Amino acid sequence: MKLTFLGTGYVGLVTGAAMAELGHTVVCADIDTKKIAKLKKGVMPIYEEGLEELVMKNVAKGRLSFSSNMTEALAHGEVIFSAVGTPEDKVTGKADLRFVLAAAESFAKNLTGYKIFVNKSTVPVGTADLVRQCIAQHAPEGARFEVVSNPEFLREGRAITDFLKPDRIVVGVASEEAKGIMERVYAPLTKKGHPLLVMDIPSAELTKYAANAFLATKISFINQIAHFCEVTGANVQAVAEGMGMDERIGRRFLAAGAGYGGSCFPKDVSALIESAKEKKVQLSILQSVDSFNDAQKIYPVQLLKKQLKTGLAGKRVALLGLAFKPDTDDVREAPALYVVRELMAAGATVVAYDPVANKEFSRVLGEAAVTYVRSARAALRKADAAIIMTEWKEFSALTQEDFSLLAKGAAVIDGRNSIDKQCVESAGCSYKGIGI
Ligand code: NAD
Repeated sequence: MKLTFLGTGYVGLVTGAAMAELGHTVVCADIDTKKIAKLKKGVMPIYEEGLEELVMKNVAKGRLSFSSNMTEALAHGEVIFSAVGTPEDKVTGKADLRFVLAAAESFAKNLTGYKIFVNKSTVPVGTADLVRQCIAQHAPEGARFEVVSNPEFLREGRAITDFLKPDRIVVGVASEEAKGIMERVYAPLTKKGHPLLVMDIPSAELTKYAANAFLATKISFINQIAHFCEVTGANVQAVAEGMGMDERIGRRFLAAGAGYGGSCFPKDVSALIESAKEKKVQLSILQSVDSFNDAQKIYPVQLLKKQLKTGLAGKRVALLGLAFKPDTDDVREAPALYVVRELMAAGATVVAYDPVANKEFSRVLGEAAVTYVRSARAALRKADAAIIMTEWKEFSALTQEDFSLLAKGAAVIDGRNSIDKQCVESAGCSYKGIGI
């Protein structure tokens, strides 16, 4: 089928390339002309394992192309996916639907015949109605269209596999015609046994928020248990193991640490809370999850202050891990951003290292006087303390010799419970994890 993606960001690029891999002919379009120019030269705008190969392979086969010309791009697709951003409005906490409505408007203005507008972005319940109104307002007389909800569940770092081997595909439709079209789009995956769940549009829109909010709740739950572990002598990893073996609970998302971040959980929890408030429903559990997580992001700094006793002023702190999780260079809402600001406010000097996210982190953080280095060893050298903020494999592989580079008696705070305590202690440093 001929598909067009409006928005060639994380979701648009990965899903567009993966749809091409499934045999569709895909145009990925974006208003960011620089991004499109780079992609045309084969330069990936994000780091995601396997993405470059997938893109290059499908471009070579003639199934994938890039465009910043919306009219051309929209003329191509029989199905138009919108994968534009839905960032958090920092004043209201709601989802900012500006980009979704702009995409709907350009869809409408270029509409010929019958096409469907598939919303892949994460949006509040009721957005499909707004999109429908927007398209109706701008579309030519007599044009036929439908709006479909098809939220995306891929995880950064495993995005391609997640898309090509999904647990489920959720599609919200209002007609049999749209249902049939979406079944054809996803036929290559459903034929392999991946379930396609067809439901009404509001349920599809809400499923995505509810799933993310539940995962965020699971993380905050174990983090709060970790706090209790710290005063009782219990070990949160043992507790999580014991809980997780119960198949009703499951082990995943029970890793205690320095809170969740990223481009999805924080904004989606906030948007869900706010959209419910509009309907006079208080999602009190999620309100607690949200505020608890804000505090948890800087908890490693509190632990460090306790360990150092002398205060942080003038101390050199090695910050290992800047991305919000491993295997990505995405630093959006990364807890490390909050930790850096907290450390600097306390007068510490920060030497930071991430295997892939140094550049992106410095761009997002801006002016702050952080020194970025090219290896964990360079960050550790002569530092008075180290905080691990991302569970990159290369940090779990750090040895006693690596930690010996730290200043004598340095404190190591393992914000992800991911490094070897023994290596740290045998290097003469103190070790403190979260809830262990
Ligand atoms: P992103 O910011 O990486 O990409 C969005 C892209 O849309 C940008 O390149 C932007 O230039 C482009 N854009 C904006 N307005 C446009 C327009 N009118 N026409 C064409 N392009 C336009 O965002 P993302 O991380 O890919 O997320 C997109 C959506 O998917 C969000 O709603 C997000 O919540 C959801 N989502 C993200 C993930 C994830 O892991 N990143 C996973 C699942 C769902």
